[in-house]
Amino acid sequence: MSRFITRFAPSPTGYLHLGHAFSALTAFRAAREAGGRFILRIEDIDRTRCKPEYEAAIYEDLSWLGIEWETPVRRQSDHFGDYAKALDKLIAQGAVYRCFKTRREIVDEIARAPHGPGEGPDGLIYPGPAEPMDADEEADRLARGEAFAWRLSLARCRDILGADYARLTFTEQGAGPDGETGEVTARPELLGDAVVARKDAGTSYHLAVVHDDALQGVTHVIRGADLFASTHLHVLLMALLGLPQPVFRHHRLLTDADGKRFAKRDRAATLRSLRENGETAAQVLARLGF
Ligand code: GLU
Repeated sequence: MSRFITRFAPSPTGYLHLGHAFSALTAFRAAREAGGRFILRIEDIDRTRCKPEYEAAIYEDLSWLGIEWETPVRRQSDHFGDYAKALDKLIAQGAVYRCFKTRREIVDEIARAPHGPGEGPDGLIYPGPAEPMDADEEADRLARGEAFAWRLSLARCRDILGADYARLTFTEQGAGPDGETGEVTARPELLGDAVVARKDAGTSYHLAVVHDDALQGVTHVIRGADLFASTHLHVLLMALLGLPQPVFRHHRLLTDADGKRFAKRDRAATLRSLRENGETAAQVLARLGF
């Protein structure tokens, strides 16, 4: 049997809702069907939004659904040093640059750009500065202790990878017209010059997820279609960092009765409120089609 390792990687920024349950169960069932392994990972690099009570609730809610995972669970906030090392590699390659801009400045710059891509699937898309920052100005701002993020320079990545850049692809289960597995050409431009290390965290979701999936030997990344655009960036990061590429499966997103995606603010759809209202785990599973 071929090796199969998948994972569910929630961020403890709120209580899990039906959308998370669908995602977790999809991955857990896939691992069981393949005779493979299922990993739970806590993605808590955002130290202001993540709360210990939400992490505790994740364990409680997933257990209630009958999901079992391997221990110890990797908690990203315990491993900032690992992500710093991955970032150092990108810095050494010259793939990233410091960006001191505020969100407001980025918004204004995008608005002024003649053909700016503007808003993308993942929020704001920054195509990069017209000119790299002047070295003296950069040294000055560093000396003043101004905060900065590290952004991936797609222009530099093209130089670094040469012809391989245009040849970046990934395997998507369900990419074909009849849901079959297909090769997708990666288009990192979908996310522009993305932030790979946030001002406040020293890393980003993108860098940490790519690092951890490789470290944990994940062979199949199973997650919602909302992260499909991010995958295009992730395969570029994998190529730069020399990491193996998993197979991807982006599942459909669950919607509520009004056709809207579930969000953490939808109290009624959280697993704990369903439980408090007397719903059983079996009923939740049936509701989700399992
Ligand atoms: N931590 C991410 C989230 O909660 C998901 C990461 C992933 O599955 O790649 O949206």
